[in-house]
Amino acid sequence: MSVPIANLARLRGFIEDFSRLVEKNLSEPAVVEQGSVLLKSLVSHDDWLPTEFAQPDPERYQQFLLHADPLGRFSVVSFVWGPGQRTPIHDHRVWGLIGMLRGSEQSQGFSASAQGFVADGGPITLNPGDVEVVSPRVGDIHQVSNAFADRTSISIHVYGANIGAVRRATYSLDGGERLFISGYSNRLLPNVWDLSKE
Ligand code: FE
Repeated sequence: MSVPIANLARLRGFIEDFSRLVEKNLSEPAVVEQGSVLLKSLVSHDDWLPTEFAQPDPERYQQFLLHADPLGRFSVVSFVWGPGQRTPIHDHRVWGLIGMLRGSEQSQGFSASAQGFVADGGPITLNPGDVEVVSPRVGDIHQVSNAFADRTSISIHVYGANIGAVRRATYSLDGGERLFISGYSNRLLPNVWDLSKE
């Protein structure tokens, strides 16, 4: 079976549209609201993510950088969850948009209490086309899990910084905090700029 060529024009168009959006220097609520519309449109089609950036790893979830704005105003990342994989409880320290592309995931919010971290209500389940927002303004601490124990799930995230370089933290339920800088799983980026085949 041949692998279909990814529709990179869709990703390139998203990068262009998001670049225009951040160029407006809007408030965070406006960027998040308008950016969510753009991301929802992107993840409502599953024909554009190259297979290299959709590969799970048996050891841990993958975070593939797809695009970083040269001025650090946003980044686009493909998160690939193998069966049953999950993040630790963590924060972001910038706004983030989570768009479900394939499969399903659950996001559980947490808030700090005197005893440590407690769950904020029940988990949010994301299905293809859904978009969730995180940020220090609306709730920044959560844990994300693949909703499936037997298949890969993929979500596309956009953050208000080069997220792989942001100094942030993971948390344990008893309130413990550990600083980390996530980096990325890939060394090479998708080439969305070769227009000769289109
Ligand atoms: Fe997160």
